[in-house]
Amino acid sequence: MIAKVKRSNTIAFPVPKNKGGRRQFKQTEQHITLRLELSNVLQSTLELAQILQLFLDQVKRNLSVDSLRYQNEESSHAVNLGEPAKHSCHYKLITNEDSLGEISFTRDKRFAEHDLQMLELLIGSLICPIRNALLYQDAIASALRDPLTGTGNRMAMENTLTREVAIALRHKQPLSMLVVDIDAFKKINDIYGHAAGDCVLKNVARTLTQCSRDTDSTYRAYRFGGEEFVLLLNNTNRDGAVILAERIREGIEEMITTCEEKSIHITASIGVSTLRTGESASQLFDRADKALYTAKDDGRNQVISADPVTESRSLG
Ligand code: GH3
Ligand code: MG
Ligand code: MG
Repeated sequence: MIAKVKRSNTIAFPVPKNKGGRRQFKQTEQHITLRLELSNVLQSTLELAQILQLFLDQVKRNLSVDSLRYQNEESSHAVNLGEPAKHSCHYKLITNEDSLGEISFTRDKRFAEHDLQMLELLIGSLICPIRNALLYQDAIASALRDPLTGTGNRMAMENTLTREVAIALRHKQPLSMLVVDIDAFKKINDIYGHAAGDCVLKNVARTLTQCSRDTDSTYRAYRFGGEEFVLLLNNTNRDGAVILAERIREGIEEMITTCEEKSIHITASIGVSTLRTGESASQLFDRADKALYTAKDDGRNQVISADPVTESRSLG
C-alpha cells in the first residue's frame, strides 16, 4: 500500500521557490528510528481515538503542537484532541485504495517548513494504524447489524439492554421496551413467497424507525428474531411507551408492501414493559414478551402493556 499525504495548509507559510520545488527532506537514521518507534506505539491499539492520542503524544515530543483534529465524513468519525490554536496545517490522508479522512494540527506559532516536514514524516506512520482501526470499526459494526433490515441484531440488543438497564437504575430514569411481532407472518411467506416476506421485514424496520423519530428520547430498533423486533426506549415511561407502541401498530397496519404487483397488508402485536426498581434486563424482556403473547392470545393487532397503569414502583 502506497500512502500519499496531501498537504493543504490553511495558513500561508514560506514555500521554497527554487526550481526543484520543495527541498527534499533527508531522512536520517534518527528519523527512521523515530518512525519505527512510532509505528510500534501505534500498533498497541485498534481504537481510533487512542491511536490519535498516542500519535499526538509522540508528535509533541518532536515539535510544538496544541491540537489535533481528525475527520472522516465517509465513516462519520471525528476526533478532537487538545485546544485549537491560531495557526493550522491540514492533510488529506489518501491510500491507493481509499481516502482515510483528513487530519489538522494547530498551534500558536506558524508552522515552519522543517516542522511540516517532521509532521509529514510522522504522519507516514499513522496511515496503516488508521486504516486498520477503520476496518476494525467496520467489522464491529457489521457484527452488530442485521444485514436484511439494517437494524441492530440480537447481539447488539443484548449489549445495549444490559448497559441501558444499569444506567436507568443508577440515574433513576425511566426505560421502556417494546417487543413487536408480525401477525401470521408464516402465511405471508406461504402466499407471497420468502422474498416478499423479506420486503415486508424491511418495511416494518423502516416503519419502526419512522414512527419513533420525532421524539426527544433515543429509540433504538433491533431485529431480535425472524419476524420479531425490539425497541429500547430511553427516558420513556409506561404511558409514553404505550403511546409510541400504538403509533407503531397503526403505522404497520397502514403500511402497504408492494411486491411483484401485489399489495401486501400486515398487522403486528406489541408487548410493552417499563423497568421496575431492581429489575434485571432479562426480567424486563420477559415481561414485554409475556405481554406480547397476551396480545396474540387476545386476537392480535394490539398493544398490551405489562404495567397496566403507571405504578409507583415503576421508575418514571
Ligand atoms: P403469530 O401471529 O403467532 O406470530 O404467527 P407467525 O406466523 O407470525 O409466527 P410463526 O412463528 O409461526 O412464524 C414465523 C415465520 O417467520 C416463520 C418463518 O419462516 C418466517 N421467517 C423467519 N425469518 C424470516 C426471514 O428472514 N425472512 C422471511 N421471509 N421469513 C422469515
Ligand atoms: Mg409472528
Ligand atoms: Mg414470532
